[in-house]
Amino acid sequence: MINIQQLGWDVRTVGELDHRLLKAPRVKLRSANPGKNGDVAYCVDLRVNKPNAGEYLSSTELHSVEHFLLEGLQRYLPENFLSIGIMGCQTGFYIVLLNEGRSEKICSVLANIFSDMLTATAVPYTSIEQCGNYMNHNLELAQNVARRVLDAKPDWLDVV
Ligand SMILES: [Zn+2]
Repeated sequence: MINIQQLGWDVRTVGELDHRLLKAPRVKLRSANPGKNGDVAYCVDLRVNKPNAGEYLSSTELHSVEHFLLEGLQRYLPENFLSIGIMGCQTGFYIVLLNEGRSEKICSVLANIFSDMLTATAVPYTSIEQCGNYMNHNLELAQNVARRVLDAKPDWLDVV
C-alpha cells in the first residue's frame, strides 16, 4: 500500500481536479501506480501557469524549460527519472518517476533544477542531432519562467 500522506502530499488533491480550482506555480501528485513487483510509478504535475487565466507558456518557453527539466531530472534522479512531457494546454509539465514519490525530495530536486537554470549559460541538448526543433529555444525566457516558479516555492504544495 502507498501512503500518500506519508509521502508528503495532501490526499484530497491527488488525481484529477477541477481545473478552475488549480493555482500555479504548484507541484501536485497526479497518481501513484504500483506494479506487481512492488515498484511504483509516480506521476507529478508541475503546473507553471494557472489554467484558463489568459496567460500561457509559449512554445519556446515550454520547449527550453522541458530541456532543462530533462537534463536536471536525469542528473538529480538517475535511478528514478522516467519521463518529462509538456502539457498541451501550455500551463505546465508532466513528470514521471519510478520509486520516488516523496514530495520533499521531488520539490528539492525541482528547486535545484530551477536554481541551476538561473546560472546556466545555455539550454541543454540544443544541437540539431539532439532536438527536433533546435532553433526554437531561448535561455532568457526559460530563466524568467524559472525565477517565477522559484518565487512560489513556499506554496508549491498548496495546489488548490
Ligand atoms: Zn527539443
